[in-house]
Parts: sequence; structure tokens; C-alpha cells
Amino acid sequence: MPELPEVDAVVRRLREAAANSTIHSIKVERPGTVLPHQPTDFKPLHGATILDVRRRAKHIFIHLSTNQHLHIHLRMTGNLYVLPDYRLRPHTTRLWCRLTDNRVLIFDDSRALGKVHLVSSDDIQRIESELGPEPLESAFTPALLKTILANVKSPIKPALLDQTRIAGIGNIYASEALWHARIHPATPAKDIRASKIKPLHAAIQKVLTEATASAYREYSQPGTQIASEEFGVAAYGRTGEPCPRCNTPIERIVQAARSTFFCPRCQQL
Ligand SMILES: [Zn+2]
Repeated sequence: MPELPEVDAVVRRLREAAANSTIHSIKVERPGTVLPHQPTDFKPLHGATILDVRRRAKHIFIHLSTNQHLHIHLRMTGNLYVLPDYRLRPHTTRLWCRLTDNRVLIFDDSRALGKVHLVSSDDIQRIESELGPEPLESAFTPALLKTILANVKSPIKPALLDQTRIAGIGNIYASEALWHARIHPATPAKDIRASKIKPLHAAIQKVLTEATASAYREYSQPGTQIASEEFGVAAYGRTGEPCPRCNTPIERIVQAARSTFFCPRCQQL
């Protein structure tokens, strides 16, 4: 599943390719992708110009010169990209926007779990208001992280995945950040020692910054690249392999139905 770094890469590439382009027409190939909208609801966007492409957490927004915007969630296998000619689109295309220069912006989604919706500026505001701060923005400080975790009784690992608290830390990067900060994933979030807040904040930013840069270089299609392929993981997915810091075998536990990988020696409760 694309995590924040891959979504960020998709958005940056799409912005470079499609900003300031004008939509000639939109074709919905799979009505389920746009429900509860009808394919005909997209007709008013013909002739609209793409002003910007941006993301908030894993939500992608394509801002249009009309008052409606596209809201895309990639889910498991969704991808957005531009091809030089609309006739080159693959059979897994669920929706496509032919641009006035004959290029095509494609929503490609083999498993068809992704969604493309029409939203207003108010809708976007509402979606954003339900999300925690972006972990790579300057507003996300160690002090804010301390406040966010202060009253949270659940273990730190699932707490980091809660998008209403911090938006955009996925399963791989939560495991990795805790390994870097030497925090046991089962530690109740509210019990993280004050001296560990700064290292945890730094670790979150480090892993996401490196993964985002790596994803921008490497990522092309969901499933063709594990989120961490280029990004060197220390613990994630490495059960039984030696911890890069102390050689103790990495262990796997399941928390809130997600795998967590950690070093039982470096990350003690
Ligand atoms: Zn270790």
C-alpha cells in the first residue's frame, strides 16, 4: 500500500506534469470508483484548468479552476500519472482526463479500491480539519509531539498510526522511528519519558524525510516497489535478523492487527 512517501512522490510528479494543463474531457471507466457520484457529474469539469496538485496526509487534491476539485485516495494499488497520448492508457485505468494537448492524466488502479470524488473547497477544509499535523511540517515540533501523546493510554506504536493525532506516519515508518529512538513499541504513549520525546520527534522526521526522497527517486507503480526498498530499513520486516546496533535478533509482535518489528535489547519497556 502506498504510504505517505509514495503519495508524496505521486503528487510531486503529477504537479510537475499536469499543473496549468487544461482538461479536455473526463471519462469514468469504472463507476464504482467515483460513487456516490455518477460519471455524468464530471462533465462540468470539461474545460477546467488544473491549478495545483497537493496532498494532506494520504489524501490527494487536484485543484481546478472551476469551484470543484478532485479528491483522490489511492488505497492499495491506485496511482496517478500523465501519459503522452490518451490512447496509451492501460486496461486498469478507472478514470482518465484527456488534456487539451492530447496527453492524459490517468487514475490507474488494478484492485479498484481507490476513490475519486468531486469536492468543494468547504469539503476539503472539513477533511483537513479531522487530520493531525503533518509530521514533516515546521509546526510539528517536539513540544507539539509531547502534547499529542500526553493523555494517550494506548501503546505508542498504534498511537503513531492514528491519523487524527499525526497525519501520515504509516506502519513501516512507525516501527523504524521507534527503533531509531530506542522506544519499546508497547510503551503507553503517555509514559514516554520527557528525554525520549526529542529523539522520537527527530526519528520520525528522519525516516520520513529519507523515505520521501527515496520514493521520489524510485517510485513508479504501487506494488513494483516495496515502500522501503531503497530506504534502508533497520527493523521493519527483519524478524530474526541481527539488530544493526546490537546484533540481537529483531522480534515481531502484532499490535492493533499490524506487525511491529523491534529490537528487544535496544528498545526496552
Ligand atoms: Zn538492538
